[in-house]
Amino acid sequence: MENQKKIRVGIIGAGSAGLFAANELGKELGNIIEIKIFEAGPPIDKRICPQNMEYECAQCDPCRIMSGVGGAGAWSSGILNLNKNIGGDLDKLCSRININADDLINEIDRYFVKNGAPNQVFDPRRNKDQLKALKRKCAAVDIRFIPIKQRLLGSKNTPKVIKNIRKHLESEYDIKIHPNMRVLSFDKNRTLYFEKAKKETFDYLLVAPGRWGMMWLAEQCETHGIKTYYKALDIGVRIEVPSIIMEEICEQIQRDPKFHIITPTYNDFIRTFCVNHKGYVVKENYEENIVGVNGHQISIDGESENSNFAFLIRQKLTRPLEDTTKYGRSISLQTSILGGYKPLVQTLGDLKNGHRSRLSLIKRNPVQPTLKDATPGDIAMAYPYRFITDILEGLEILDKVIPGVNNKSTLIYAPEFKRSAKRIETNKYLESKKINNIFFAGDGAGLSRGIIAAAVTGKIAAKGIISKIQTH
Ligand SMILES: Cc1cc2nc3c(=O)[nH]c(=O)nc-3n(C[C@H](O)[C@H](O)[C@H](O)COP(=O)(O)OP(=O)(O)OC[C@H]3O[C@@H](n4cnc5c(N)ncnc54)[C@H](O)[C@@H]3O)c2cc1C
Repeated sequence: MENQKKIRVGIIGAGSAGLFAANELGKELGNIIEIKIFEAGPPIDKRICPQNMEYECAQCDPCRIMSGVGGAGAWSSGILNLNKNIGGDLDKLCSRININADDLINEIDRYFVKNGAPNQVFDPRRNKDQLKALKRKCAAVDIRFIPIKQRLLGSKNTPKVIKNIRKHLESEYDIKIHPNMRVLSFDKNRTLYFEKAKKETFDYLLVAPGRWGMMWLAEQCETHGIKTYYKALDIGVRIEVPSIIMEEICEQIQRDPKFHIITPTYNDFIRTFCVNHKGYVVKENYEENIVGVNGHQISIDGESENSNFAFLIRQKLTRPLEDTTKYGRSISLQTSILGGYKPLVQTLGDLKNGHRSRLSLIKRNPVQPTLKDATPGDIAMAYPYRFITDILEGLEILDKVIPGVNNKSTLIYAPEFKRSAKRIETNKYLESKKINNIFFAGDGAGLSRGIIAAAVTGKIAAKGIISKIQTH
């Protein structure tokens, strides 16, 4: 077929959603379509880390803020959560189009392996007796433990895997990936607008700009009258403990153990998230004047003596304030102001006793902070009573499964705030209900939270495009 007669698909964002959608389209439709991916950030080997740590960074602001080919996960340690209950409503999304979510996840996983992901899988079911003992302990105190199979790409390997995927898409299906091409806007005729008055029109659009582009996407939806919905807020703290107390769970059962708890007083849902065994707490700049914390497994200093994890409360809001991001920002801003625009750190003992932590006492604390650039203070001055109650109750319960987590010396950092993109109204194939032939996928559309989940949504949208093309 002549080039100009090909059906043209434009994809915004070369993250997990965009790349996996492109692969599905290329695989199924071969040379009847022409696919272009536009990515605001640079190609993976052209990113410049000011700390000059090549691919090992992900800790400094430019590396975190600026995505690029491979998306947000490109700088991460690349944990692939191979479970349909993690990262979104994958079962529901897949069953609506009569697809088995497990099969789709396995297909995505195989593609990662084909492109250089390590063969080793961490599966909690390997150690049946230990898993059973852990589940028994959890059940006794009303904790839900989610066993998940995980594959670890590793921070060094992740960029190589992304490069291989890019090479495969370009060589096998002639897909064109354009880094440093930020889409300024799109319209209902599926025209993309770029800098210097450039524009290009496509038959189908897939919009997958990730969290980096979620605000932009929400604005675009508003312009075009596409309905969006606020999602629940994930806010909490980062907990740091001696790694020895998490060793058995993290090294023998699950690297990133997921514990779900309902707190007694408020009936709130609180969970462990992003466990970094022998890792580091890192500072994040959410935006100007708002700092936060996150965790990372890697550093030039090697393994630390501590483990850290996010302890996050999920909170829905109803009228008059439905904007969960606004609420989360205001708590984070208050915390940042109190910390002199640095995150706050406090010992659990001080939080329980109602006084601020001080540097002299932190220096004597048995658990030494891996994040030095934090201000010892009082998190209770910044966080609502309800959330502090949830955190204290949650730690008390978790201590029955991880003894030591509720010690006085446990360190607590704040704010830790995971902003959610607004969920965009779509049909079952993730096509806009308002504008035909514009599809959405990934974290930026509020459909996923994670590399695998974003890939699943990219593939669902691609299947929608394929089905439309094949029935026309
Ligand atoms: C530090 C860090 C560590 C993480 N670790 C893990 C992990 O171990 N495991 C896991 O499952 N998840 C992890 N995540 C989350 C995971 O990276 C995301 O869930 C996933 O990448 C989402 O994929 P996506 O395609 O929706 O968006 P993204 O990967 O964010 O990709 C979207 C792309 O779109 C581009 N873009 C945005 N707007 C525009 C525009 N207007 N024009 C052109 N391009 C645009 C962005 O530059 C970006 O590259 C991590 C995230 C971070 C930040």
